[in-house]
Amino acid sequence: MRAMYYEAFGAAPEIRTLPDPTPTNAGVVISVKATGLCRSDWHGWMGHDPDIKLPHVPGHELAGTISAVGRDVRRFKVGDRVTVPFVSGCGHCMECRSGNSQVCEEQFQPGFTHWGSFAEYVAIDYADQNLVHLPEEISYETAASLGCRFATSFRAVVDQGRLKGSEWLAVHGCGGVGLSAIMIGAALGANVVAIDIAEDKLALARALGATATIDSRAVADVSEAVREVTGGGAHVSVDALGHPQTCCNSILNLRRRGRHVQVGLMLADHATPAIPMARVIAHELEIYGSHGMQSWRYDAMLRMILSGKLSPERLIGRRITLSEAAPALATMDSFRENGISIIDRMI
Ligand SMILES: [Zn+2]
Ligand SMILES: [Zn+2]
Repeated sequence: MRAMYYEAFGAAPEIRTLPDPTPTNAGVVISVKATGLCRSDWHGWMGHDPDIKLPHVPGHELAGTISAVGRDVRRFKVGDRVTVPFVSGCGHCMECRSGNSQVCEEQFQPGFTHWGSFAEYVAIDYADQNLVHLPEEISYETAASLGCRFATSFRAVVDQGRLKGSEWLAVHGCGGVGLSAIMIGAALGANVVAIDIAEDKLALARALGATATIDSRAVADVSEAVREVTGGGAHVSVDALGHPQTCCNSILNLRRRGRHVQVGLMLADHATPAIPMARVIAHELEIYGSHGMQSWRYDAMLRMILSGKLSPERLIGRRITLSEAAPALATMDSFRENGISIIDRMI
C-alpha cells in the first residue's frame, strides 16, 4: 500500500510503498476513502506524543469501506461503509463497560498507538466495539471530518459542557475544533461568542452561527470583553486551541457556576498551565477535559446531521492528495489552514 511514513520525529514525511496490513481476530482492515489532517498529527510528528513508536504512519480521522475482517468480528462485513472514533476502546475494561471507551485503559488509537490512516489501508482493532456504520447520505469526506475534532467538540459541548438553548457559549480558537463547537452550540439554540486572532476565521465563525466575535488582539482583556458581550459571562466556555493563555481566558470569562471544557491539547511546554483556582472556588466553576467521543454517542450526532441541524461538510477547507499532505503536515504549526483539510485521493 501507499502510505505516509517517517522514521524520525521532525524529519520530512515521505510517501512509501509498505506491506498491506492484516486484521487481528477482533479487528478489521479499512480501505481508506478519506482522512483528515489534524494538528494532533503535527504534534505526533514533532515527537510530543509518547504513544508513538518509530517508524510511523500518521492519520486518525478516517472513513472508508471494510476490506478484510478478523474471525471474531460479528457486526461488520467486507464492503461495509464505516468510520471510527480516534480513541477506540478495548470493550472489556472498567471504563469501556461503563460506556466510557473514550478513556479506555487499553485504548487503540490509529495514527498514535498504531499505524494510521494516511495510507490506502488501515487496521483497526476491537471492531465490534468501535466501528460506526455510515449512513449512505453521509459522504466519506464528511465522515472523515467527524472522527476527531467534530466528535470531540460534540462531546465537549453536549455531554461535558451540558450546554442548553439560550445559554452563552464562548469558544476560544476558531480552527477545526472551535468551528465545530460553534456550529454545535448554535444548533442547540445557544448564543455563541467566538474568539480568535484571524479575521477570516472570525468571518467563518459568524457564517457558522456565532452571535458575536472578538478579535483577541484588538481588546485589552479578552475575558472582560466576553463578560461584556454575554452580559455577565459565558455559561460554558471551550478552549479549542490549547494554550495557557486561552485556557486561562476561558476560565476567567465564565459566569458564576459556569463550565470550562478543555479540548485543545496541552503538550510539551504547555502541559501544566497556571489555573486561576481562587476563581474556580469562589465562583464554583466546573472544569472538564474532553477526549474524543464514544462510538455509541455517534447516533445522536449522526441524527442531527441527517436532519440538517448540523452540516460538518461546511468545515471542510482543502481537499488534497496523500502526496500533498506530506509537506502540509510539516507546516501545520503556522495555523494557516482555514477549516479542515481532507485527503481524498491516495495518490
Ligand atoms: Zn477499555
Ligand atoms: Zn484529529
